[in-house]
Amino acid sequence: MRWTVHVEVRLAPKSRRRVDIIQNLVREFIQSSYERLSLPSVLHGWDVDSALASSVERIVVAESSCPANSLPLDELSLQIHTYQPSESDIVEEYANGTGAEGDDQVHAASVCELPCKSWEGLWDSLYYPDNIKLKLLDYIHATFVLSDANIDFNLVSWNRVVLLHGPPGTGKTSLCRALAQKLSIRLSHRYTQARLLEINSHSLFSRWFSESGKLVQRLFNNIAEMVDDEDCFVVVLIDEVESLTAARAGAMAGTEPSDGLRVVNALLTQLDKLKRRKNVLVMSTSNLAKAIDSAFVDRADIVQYVGMPPRQAIYEILRSALCEFVAKGLLQHVIVPTLEDAIFVEENTWCTDGHSSSDPTASLRAEQERIGRALLKLADMCREQGLSGRALRRLPVLALAQYIGGGVSASRSTASPGVMSPNGSQADI
Ligand code: ADP
Repeated sequence: MRWTVHVEVRLAPKSRRRVDIIQNLVREFIQSSYERLSLPSVLHGWDVDSALASSVERIVVAESSCPANSLPLDELSLQIHTYQPSESDIVEEYANGTGAEGDDQVHAASVCELPCKSWEGLWDSLYYPDNIKLKLLDYIHATFVLSDANIDFNLVSWNRVVLLHGPPGTGKTSLCRALAQKLSIRLSHRYTQARLLEINSHSLFSRWFSESGKLVQRLFNNIAEMVDDEDCFVVVLIDEVESLTAARAGAMAGTEPSDGLRVVNALLTQLDKLKRRKNVLVMSTSNLAKAIDSAFVDRADIVQYVGMPPRQAIYEILRSALCEFVAKGLLQHVIVPTLEDAIFVEENTWCTDGHSSSDPTASLRAEQERIGRALLKLADMCREQGLSGRALRRLPVLALAQYIGGGVSASRSTASPGVMSPNGSQADI
């Protein structure tokens, strides 16, 4: 048995070489350079091949559901995907006004071409326990296997709807966007185009009450048109879906006008129409799962709770921020230990014993161990405080602001590499 491993090759903006040629070159490079592959990993050394050097920007072996983090090449089946991220962000916007004079146009949805520059790296920057990201990818893969096998929908059915719910700031919207981007890369051999359509639930529902049912319908007509192009894969993101669907519960309790009910019904009818289309995925998020209409929840194939980051995820978020500061020259060069290394040191106190300060290698190691321990301690404090992923991404900014105060200019011209030593700031981080 061979494990499928996805290799993602980002093409240079000016690359005009045929993608099948590049894919072959990448395959040959991997086969001649590696006996084993680490999952995930960024590959280096391919730029000695002039064709690859002029056409490729980055080659990444993606994480996978394989049983180990490193496997011999002969146990792997390589799927090589090439992609060229689009420069532009939003390509189209739908307004939900009628366009009449005095009628404010409020954005009902925006569409962007995928893969796009803005969401590059987003997938890798999200850290979740329990392999949530891989679970979502495996689900999509399963729906394709079933669709390809022409499974009778009367016997086995699915809705192509995913619901992520949990506290605000836990990365639900980011995960939907990152997944859309990932799919656009992974499915590029099936679909020549991919698009992400983000529905602005608030604007669709909160205004023009009596119109909202029609507006949902109109929006979904646009989506249906997009999906009619079978070469285009469409991800529909309904953010804060509870604002669309809480209405029915309210209507039943007599607290919402029946227009709210019309919106929910319109949405559910439209979702039912989409489920037979192979080239669409509906992702929704909610901060208030209890407020979502049960008929909507019932339609979701996956209802995934996304909670506050645990200790390991907090460590990874803080580590990635610190590494970015080092990479951009804001901190002097240090190696921030991986989570595994930091935990190993924490669990084996003898690691730090016997480091002689006169031995440069030993003192370097001692420094890394100190940083690892400080970050783990900080991760525990953040968890006790219940900090969300959003708050954690902000934390390094606040820490840096406190550290540099008004005394040091943060401009690139004056803050030369190595100006700030993480050693001195350890107590603060
Ligand atoms: P939500 O939709 O749940 O309110 P967002 O997707 O808007 O959250 O995330 C807000 C910010 O927090 C993003 O910049 C995201 O990268 C970051 N973030 C949240 N959770 C995580 C996580 N588990 N790992 C890494 N970054 C996270």
